[in-house]
Formats: sequence, C-alpha cells, structure tokens
Amino acid sequence: MNLRYASSLLCAAGLAGAAQAAPAPAQVSAADAAAFSSCLSQLRGQALQQGVAAGTFDAHTRGLTPDMSVIASLDAQPEFKTPIWDYLAALVDDERVADGQQALRQWHAELARAQAQFGVDPATVVAVWGVESNFGKKLGGRPLLTSLSTLSCFGRRQAYFRGEFFATLKIIQQEHVRPERLNGSWAGAFGQTQFMPSTYLRLAVDFDGDGRRDLVDSVPDALASTANFLQRAGWKAGMPWGFEVTLPAGLDTSAAGRRNKRPMSAWAAQGLKRADGGALPAGDLQAGLLLPAGPTGPAFLVTRNFDAVYSYNAAESYALAIAHLSDRLRGAGPFVRAWPTDDPGLSRAERRELQSLLIARGFDIGEPDGLIGARTREALQTMQRQAGLPADGRAGLKSLQWLRDNAGQPPAALNAPPAD
Ligand code: CA
Repeated sequence: MNLRYASSLLCAAGLAGAAQAAPAPAQVSAADAAAFSSCLSQLRGQALQQGVAAGTFDAHTRGLTPDMSVIASLDAQPEFKTPIWDYLAALVDDERVADGQQALRQWHAELARAQAQFGVDPATVVAVWGVESNFGKKLGGRPLLTSLSTLSCFGRRQAYFRGEFFATLKIIQQEHVRPERLNGSWAGAFGQTQFMPSTYLRLAVDFDGDGRRDLVDSVPDALASTANFLQRAGWKAGMPWGFEVTLPAGLDTSAAGRRNKRPMSAWAAQGLKRADGGALPAGDLQAGLLLPAGPTGPAFLVTRNFDAVYSYNAAESYALAIAHLSDRLRGAGPFVRAWPTDDPGLSRAERRELQSLLIARGFDIGEPDGLIGARTREALQTMQRQAGLPADGRAGLKSLQWLRDNAGQPPAALNAPPAD
C-alpha cells in the first residue's frame, strides 16, 4: 500500500500486498556484496541522525545480505495490463464475501468500537483487511530488513526506501513487533493491513490495550489502524462511498473523472440514476463520475470517501474493489451492468478449477492455488492454441469453459487426425 509499486505487485499477484512464499535469494556477486557493505556503513550515520540507536542499527544490520530479487521486482513491468474485470473478479468473489461476513461477526465488538472512535463503518474496514491480506492469511514472506536494506542501496528510489528502512529499525527499537515477525511484500508493506513502515509509525494504533501497536499478530490493532488511516485520509462518517449509476442516453462523458466533482443534484438533473433503482441523495453531496471501462461499462458516482480509500493504494481499481466488497458485505449484489467483454474474469474458485483442469491435461503447473503465475499463463497459451482461442495466456471464462467441455478427452486426441 501507499506505494505505486504496490499496484503492479497487486496486479501481478491478484491480491494487494500479496504474498507468495519468498523465492530463494539470488546469488550475490562479490561486487554487490562489497557495495552493500560500504552502503550500510554510510547509512549508519543517517540512521543515527534520524533517531535510530547505534545499538539497534548494529545489532540488526550485522549479517544482513542483500536480496537482489527485490531489485528485479522494482524494475519489473507487468507483462500485460490486467483488465479491471479480471482484477475485480478475483478480489471480490463469493469466497471473500463469505469470509468477510464471518470476520464481521467474529470481530463485531472491536469493529463497533473502532467505528465509534474513527467513524469508519465495519464493512469498509473488513473489506480493506480482506483485500490487503485475505483477512490476515497472506502477510508476505520477505524479511523487511533484508528487502528494505537492499532497496536502500541499489536501484531506483533509494532515498525513499532508506526512510522505510530506518522506520523499520525504529519499529524494532520501540519493541512493538519482533524483527522475525517483520516480513512482508518485496517493497516492505507488512502486517494484516500491509502498511509501509513509515505509515505504521504515523498511523498504527494499539487497540487491544497491551501497549504495543502490533499489525502482524493483533487483529484489533490492525482493524483500528485501518480505520485510523481512513479517517486521517478524510473519511467522513455516514457518507456513502458512492453508487453504481445508469447514464442517460447521449450523456457527454467528457466531464467524467473521480476528481471532477459536482453536486449529486447536478448529476441527477443530467439524468443519472442509481442502478439499483433508488434515488440519488438530494442536495450538494459532491461526487465524480467514474467510468472504469469507458462509457459502455458499469458507471459510478464516487464521493470523498472513495478518495480516502484510493489513498490507501493510489489506484482507482483498488478503491472500487474495496467499495464494492463493502457493499457486498452489507448484502448488496454484483454490479447491475456487465463489464464490456464477452470473456468475463474468474473468481478464485474458478481459477483453481481452471488450474485443476490444466493439470488433468498433463500441464506441470504445481498446485491449483488460484494465483495465475507465469507457469499457468504459459500452459494456458498452449491450451488456447489447441482450442483456437486467442493465445494470450489470460485466465478468462472462455478458456475455463473450453477446458470443462473438453475434460476427460486425452490431450493427444487434439492432435490426432480426424477419424474417417
Ligand atoms: Ca496492541
């Protein structure tokens, strides 16, 4: 979160701040090892100036070796742009709605207390938790000190990552979270809320009363810290994030855009209606028109509360996932208008089914985990060529349907000459 890089990570992994097992560290060349060692001695002075104790710095940098794979992640370009319908299909699926409703019941008292203190409703807080870490099940497996010291000494944006490295040392120094629990994404987002370390220092709160701000092992601390973040980002209690709307025929959509806000009454005067048939709020509540897939896809009016969620990850698709999931947790259904595609995205259950069907056809793609990685995409491309579908490696409904229809047929039959 709070880092544009996190967005590409999120698209790549299908989950914000997601956390597959960290790969084995790449071999470090002698030159990189020497550069790292000399960089760390330079950083020591800076760290001390910024309030890190010498003893903390020395104890926690001794024996550090760089993990050059994080530099590869920093420079990685997404292979292709994830369509928003793929992104949302996996983040807001029936499984996550059910898990989120269970979380709402389990943490009811803490969520009510957080709402009283920070003004953010339980469904929104739980939606952030679900998208950031799948309700605490995916925290990220990379040691923060290793990732952030490497990013402080190599690659682009070293100044930014040095601030995060020093913030991590301060978290350890304040003894809120033990160093061995400080694991996260390659960029340093960690814990149930996937806060960057500097965000932790500014906004994490102790909500279970044990005197420590622990976003890794305390769900109450994590939920309240998320609510605190949103309140500080401008969340207004009782204001809706917005609504799906229907557009009147012939609407000039050149004024679309989250930031281009107008009173709801002005949108209503132009003929916009709520997609669920309800009335738009009367009066001067300010809202922008969001068209994530252009004028032929679902349309939304979004308020300043949508902007508060946006600031968590600086992506409109992310904010829409949180907003929609919060509605689903309150019992609302899917969007009324379909996405403008004839090949919709897949839920995580459907992605696992697709992977199981690929495995049954003999593709070696590991376990069906619902994460569409390089091996699944490669297998899909081969399968799509056999099926006469566009060989783009995308996990969409057409590929799943073809695999279902052709399950049980030995793959070799595809290459056999037609029977006469
Ligand atoms: Ca605590």
